Amino acid sequence: MTWQATVLTIFPEMLPGPLACSLAGKALRAGLWRLETVDIRDFARDKHRSVDDAPFGGGPGMVMRPDVLDAALAGSDGIGPVLLLSPRGRRLNQERVRSLAGGPGVRLICGRFEGVDERVLVACEIEELSLGDFVLSGGEPAAIALIDACVRLLPGVVGRADALAEESFAESLLEYPQYTRPQLWQGRAVPEVLVSGDHRRIRDWRRTEAERLTRERRPDLWERYRAAQDSDRAGDREVDQ
Ligand code: SAH
Repeated sequence: MTWQATVLTIFPEMLPGPLACSLAGKALRAGLWRLETVDIRDFARDKHRSVDDAPFGGGPGMVMRPDVLDAALAGSDGIGPVLLLSPRGRRLNQERVRSLAGGPGVRLICGRFEGVDERVLVACEIEELSLGDFVLSGGEPAAIALIDACVRLLPGVVGRADALAEESFAESLLEYPQYTRPQLWQGRAVPEVLVSGDHRRIRDWRRTEAERLTRERRPDLWERYRAAQDSDRAGDREVDQ
């Protein structure tokens, strides 16, 4: 079955947006994944088609109504977990992207205004996912980013599967530095090892550089990588005994 992204939004014109271009767009046209956009406003009950209202307890801004969102979820097709893009959510990472891409699809709710009535999140068991510790004006760019990250992992989308295995986060390491032509640019040469033709040395150099960058830039990932290596070694010892 084809992997399907269903996006619930009050700005359906924002989709497919960048997902119509490049890799994801080509894959969409080739039928490697499907995109369904649901206009939340179609499920409003009053003549003004309102989807939001003032917060109980006062305060600035508006809140998305639970009844309208619930109707939009119930009234639209879609498959896979229901996720709300939200700065309060668990931070999205490559591990989660891999598991979502491995499932049947995702149903994404794009928040707007101050957020969503809490009751619909509980009643519909909606999980919140965040892109990072910053605030967007709406969930649509976050939904597009999540879909893009999933789609490039679907079979047949990226030509060479080994390109995916080598890149950042593939095993809790950031990617090593990359170089291309010209070999000498503004007096700067590419590292000698990369033009040596010695594939073993190249592989070792890339790993050392990936480890150095991860240690310097992302102590959190470095810790995880070290812990995984330690448990691998412990596993090896158990096998030896
Ligand atoms: N008042 C809210 C922010 C609302 S921003 C708060 O303080 O938590 C409006 C919408 O943008 C949110 O409902 C969410 O859907 C989306 N959004 C904002 N920042 C995001 C982030 N970092 N990751 C994912 N979605 C985000």
